[in-house]
Amino acid sequence: MTEVHPKGKDNPRGLRDIPFALPEVTPAEKRLAKRIDAALQEGYPDAYCELEFSNPHELLIATILSAQSTDAGVNKATPGLFAKFKTPADYAKSTPEKIQPYIKTIGLFRNKAKSIHASMSMIVEDFDGQVPGNMTDLLKLRGVARKTANVVLGNAFGINDGFTVDTHVQRLAWRFGITDDAKTNTAIIEKKLMAIFPREHWSRLGHQLVFHGRYNCTARSNCKHDHPMCVKFGVRCGEVLPVKNKKKAKK
Ligand code: SF4
Repeated sequence: MTEVHPKGKDNPRGLRDIPFALPEVTPAEKRLAKRIDAALQEGYPDAYCELEFSNPHELLIATILSAQSTDAGVNKATPGLFAKFKTPADYAKSTPEKIQPYIKTIGLFRNKAKSIHASMSMIVEDFDGQVPGNMTDLLKLRGVARKTANVVLGNAFGINDGFTVDTHVQRLAWRFGITDDAKTNTAIIEKKLMAIFPREHWSRLGHQLVFHGRYNCTARSNCKHDHPMCVKFGVRCGEVLPVKNKKKAKK
């Protein structure tokens, strides 16, 4: 059941089904968000979820596996896993120990095997074998927090119920001047992004930010604060990037 925030009016644009308040947005933030949105759309019109899957439960499993691991690493392991276990019931009938060999190349594989087994078992027992298409039920599954739920909702169901904040989005929110601190909590970043960007763009923008972070504005980026896409909206990265990069920028 969709939760309704008791003060739905606190949320911009009448997002009454979002079960928490969103921060207020200044006119300057709105203008910045509009320019970032347009630049990302122009720069990465075809950005997509790079995890490989063919149905909602495969996406859920791939997303659980991707925590603190690369999508490329997950994509190497999942063909064998998905060939062996075809349905949520196949995982539920198995054990974490029997899932482990298929994902042992991925970090934290023992714990992830437990999460996969427990979440698939709950899907079989409580949700008729179908991955739930809503935030409340997804968050009941072991190994699923808002980031994973947002990926599943956005890519398997086309639902924008939140904004996926991974390490790339966290970094770019800071370099783009959306947040004030590199270490801003992901929950706070998500609320801010939900507040400043149109809801129908959340999933698409999440992919575009990840593409920019993965292929251009990497953690150790040597960019001289002049990426052609970023200069269109003006970034604050020249002020906030480490000194090492500031020196490179002056060369
Ligand atoms: S200008 Fe360069 S360093 Fe700054 S946010 Fe863009 S890609 Fe990153």
